[in-house]
Amino acid sequence: MIAPPSKIVCVGRNYREHARELGNDVPAEPLIFLKPPSSLIGSGDEIVLPTEFSSQVEYEGEIGLVIGSRLKNAGEAEGMQGLAGVVALNDVTARDLQGRDSQWTRAKGFDTFCCVGNLWTGDVNVGEIEVVTRLNGQERQRGTSAEMVFPIPFLISYISRLMTLLPGDLIATGTPSGVGRLASGDVVEIELMGRSMVRNSVRG
Ligand code: ZN
Repeated sequence: MIAPPSKIVCVGRNYREHARELGNDVPAEPLIFLKPPSSLIGSGDEIVLPTEFSSQVEYEGEIGLVIGSRLKNAGEAEGMQGLAGVVALNDVTARDLQGRDSQWTRAKGFDTFCCVGNLWTGDVNVGEIEVVTRLNGQERQRGTSAEMVFPIPFLISYISRLMTLLPGDLIATGTPSGVGRLASGDVVEIELMGRSMVRNSVRG
């Protein structure tokens, strides 16, 4: 990582099929929420199920963006220049709490609920990044940034107009369809085209 993130900014319902699988429409403007930096873990760390609060924890494989320079009111070109690289990211979610609460701090904020892989700083076309999720070796999600409702350059610019982005900040760009449950003993893996990978076992 560049620096520890001051915030993790997440985008909800940014893939049509995923919005539909949970019974939602895609939003007219980006749906933004935050995860606390205390939720972060790396590849090889354990996802700990918060069994006291939730009985339905799910994986969400996503393309993560790492910000490299301070961005405030950035246009799309400036925003792309401020992008340090991409990471495989798992936006772990307590789906039952997400349904009960009108905002998602609890559902998204537990310790170990943001799994982040190695930073890929090499060449990448942000319009065609593929993200794959495997649960116990079986593919469960596959999507590309080409399917996003709000594309990556737009998202960086848009978020930088809501709040100043600082070096190290993370953006989780939304999950494709195929989300599903995690159980104790599972191994879940998110991969961006062999360039970044995060693999975590689950403990309940
Ligand atoms: Zn998500």
